[in-house]
Amino acid sequence: MVEKALNFIDGQWSWPKGAKALASVNPADHRDIVCEAPDTLAAEVDRAVQAARRAFPAWRRTPAPERAKIIRRAGEIMARRKAELGRLVTRECGKPLTEGLGDVQESIDMAEMAAGEGRRLYGETTPSELPSRMCFTVREPVGVCGLITPWNFPTAIPAWKSLHALICGNTVVLKPAEDTPMCAVEFVKALEEAGIPAGVVNLVHGQGKTAGRALSAHPGVSLMSFTGSTHTGTAVATLCAESGKRVSLECGGKNAQIVLADADLDLALEGALWGAFGTAGQRCTATSRLLLDESIHDEMVDRLIKQARRLKLGAGLEKGTQVGPLINERQMKRVLDYIQAGTKGGAALRCGGKRARGADVARGWFVEPTIFTGVTRKMRIFREEIFGPVLSIVKVSGLADAIETLNDCAYGLSSSIYTRDVNSALTAVRDIEAGIVYVNGPTIGAEVHLPFGGIKGSGNGHREAGKTGLDIFTEWKTVYIDYSGKLQRAQIDNS
Ligand code: ADP
Repeated sequence: MVEKALNFIDGQWSWPKGAKALASVNPADHRDIVCEAPDTLAAEVDRAVQAARRAFPAWRRTPAPERAKIIRRAGEIMARRKAELGRLVTRECGKPLTEGLGDVQESIDMAEMAAGEGRRLYGETTPSELPSRMCFTVREPVGVCGLITPWNFPTAIPAWKSLHALICGNTVVLKPAEDTPMCAVEFVKALEEAGIPAGVVNLVHGQGKTAGRALSAHPGVSLMSFTGSTHTGTAVATLCAESGKRVSLECGGKNAQIVLADADLDLALEGALWGAFGTAGQRCTATSRLLLDESIHDEMVDRLIKQARRLKLGAGLEKGTQVGPLINERQMKRVLDYIQAGTKGGAALRCGGKRARGADVARGWFVEPTIFTGVTRKMRIFREEIFGPVLSIVKVSGLADAIETLNDCAYGLSSSIYTRDVNSALTAVRDIEAGIVYVNGPTIGAEVHLPFGGIKGSGNGHREAGKTGLDIFTEWKTVYIDYSGKLQRAQIDNS
């Protein structure tokens, strides 16, 4: 019997009547069905939104430190269950177990961060221009938050969004990716066990075009927070504009790592391998372009190819696996199409380039770590997000050329520079067009207490996580208290 991933609405687990079943398949072995989840239709999404609306008044009045206790407990529950949850993440989304455990750890870290905010959620006090008048600001929750999440961080991204939304006093309806419903179920179960009141957190499974769209268009939802492709993010933002909602988007990237002539090449090599092929390149911050100074280009390329060929592909639960599968067949085909486009466009395929063969990987969606050299700015593999283990290498000439090449991009999420020169590093920090810059580290590796997000096509001006994540999920209320006992008029001469 295949396990069922149920919806969670108003504190009850249920399978919506008549909903089609969507299979969640282990991407490393498509014989292994992790679970079936319902393709929730609009009427049931409506029931979830109504439950969240009913729960909102009491939750927003619950003192934030009390809300924090529940979030902290949920973090403790996940910490206790980390080993089991990490295995589930790996089984359902394919990433190696060390990364599966990392995904759960990120959720635990986020619980710690959000719970801490329960005793802060600071506003501002400021002097008034008038005597005997006090001015201050308070954060207020927005209302019902619709959260749409991708599969590549199947517990961490739901945690990022919902725990920040909840600590601020919002109620939520989470629509996780159809590829990883069971990870979302386990995350919500931790909140349930921690004592979250009925209706405060609701979970609806289903495809983007059914459940996702219904949630984005629902008039009872005040805010949508979305992570996924730029194309889908634009569709969600359009629905939000039409129905008058706030929307926060965290979308794609085409992240580059620069390596200058004076860099520690061993370190830069290690960083490029991890940034490009960690999570099989399926991170929005993955290193997709490597910009090598001409003086070290050939040496770095040779060493990279040698090392990339040695990376061990396999199921994430197998010991020693370094690169897991792609999430599904559609995504594998998309990546293989990009590889073809690279070759046709005139780049030199130097490593990988095919679906992986061999007994270990025959039943999964594995693509060999792939490296192109001779990539130019016009090529699709330079410009478009691939979301797979494909690295495009470009030869550059010095710092200014490297930065200009990096910035020639429709996205602006993450970036990295390897150099030993402080002036070069700080020039790059100043001039790179991206939300995140790493110096002497790869393009991946965000921490939950710092702002996360990008510019250009990578988002719409918000920053998740950190303190800035609170700005997404709150409205400011400005309060003036006049204790002068008389009418005082701002900007008017009162003498
Ligand atoms: P991916 O990140 O897998 O490339 P998407 O950006 O399409 O793909 O998916 C991210 C999330 O957006 C998933 O939860 C998906 O179900 C959802 N989604 C896809 N299409 C839509 C849509 N038209 N409206 C709302 N949500 C969608």
